[in-house]
Amino acid sequence: MQTPPIDLRSDTVTRPTMAMREAMMAAPLGDDVLGDEPTVQALEAKIAAICGKEAALYVPSGTMANQLAIRSVCEPGDEIIAHKESHIIQYETGAPAALSGCMIAMLDGPGGTFAPEDVRAAIRPKDQHAPISKMLLLENTHNKGGGTVWPVDQFATVAAEGRACGLHVHIDGARLMNACVALSVAPTAFTQHVDSVSVCFSKGLGAPVGSALVGSASLIARARRFRKMFGGAMRQSGLLAAACIYALDHHVARLADDHANARRLARQIASTPGLSLEGSPDTIPTNMVFFKLDARLGTAKDFCARLAQHGVAAIGMGPARVRMVTHLDVSANDIDRAGEAIARAAKEALA
Ligand SMILES: *Cc1c(COP(=O)(O)O)cnc(C)c1O
Repeated sequence: MQTPPIDLRSDTVTRPTMAMREAMMAAPLGDDVLGDEPTVQALEAKIAAICGKEAALYVPSGTMANQLAIRSVCEPGDEIIAHKESHIIQYETGAPAALSGCMIAMLDGPGGTFAPEDVRAAIRPKDQHAPISKMLLLENTHNKGGGTVWPVDQFATVAAEGRACGLHVHIDGARLMNACVALSVAPTAFTQHVDSVSVCFSKGLGAPVGSALVGSASLIARARRFRKMFGGAMRQSGLLAAACIYALDHHVARLADDHANARRLARQIASTPGLSLEGSPDTIPTNMVFFKLDARLGTAKDFCARLAQHGVAAIGMGPARVRMVTHLDVSANDIDRAGEAIARAAKEALA
């Protein structure tokens, strides 16, 4: 391969830019477990303010942020209400059961969204036989649903219904900033309706490590204790937090470029025989493009192996479903090259 592969497996693959590395090198450091890490504290204050909440906690991963919310709010035997394709169900190793002893009531609906009636219908009766309905989880953007964005009005009514039913409402906002940029709204358009939110700095924002859990001061104090228990309390973590601060300052607005590149890629996929794009190129919501494979192209695994030979990395999200994600480290030119490689791989498979 003369040119390096174009990595569209995930927006987690980005390397810190030189400017981000410089910000990391310049960060004042302390010991976060001893309570004097100035850069971590600055990041926590910054993301709490962005979300309009009292406090935040810097953690190693989005999974830990979600699981700390669950552990801080739920008791063993409690039930969480979430879409059946949620990250917490599909990709967090059964952690709600393993770490918090929780059941999950699974909802269905287009692109990872659902309606207020669905929430109401999932609430358990207050009866000694039933688990206690405790938390409502809304994923925004919704990853497996297609990088979908909840419309603000629908989000607000669903969250309000959850609260009216006595639930703690949590956003899995690993890509909340993508949703906000897609709709040109501030994060508070969503966060004002909920009790807690997790945000990843290591996805489209391009930082190397870390996420935050954001919420009330009392929730975050509880989560801080569980972060220690889960082994996620870190020391000179300001080194990493500095990259996240840099990302919040410089990499939010540019997510629009990733969204434009996703639509560009989608146009190329839509015109490739053997591939059926999910949605239309103009309605790709954020930075993810999904397509299904004609049976003649083999399984998603086969096709991704073939794509790799043509210099494009992607991953299967289902037996015949492939996901491609645009990010900071792929340019419009890379996308055009990827489109040509995809067309060549499909043509070869059909031959
Ligand atoms: C990536 C992701 C997470 C967190 O993943 P980590 O790899 O643990 O950081 C959580 N929710 C969604 C929707 C995600 O896409």
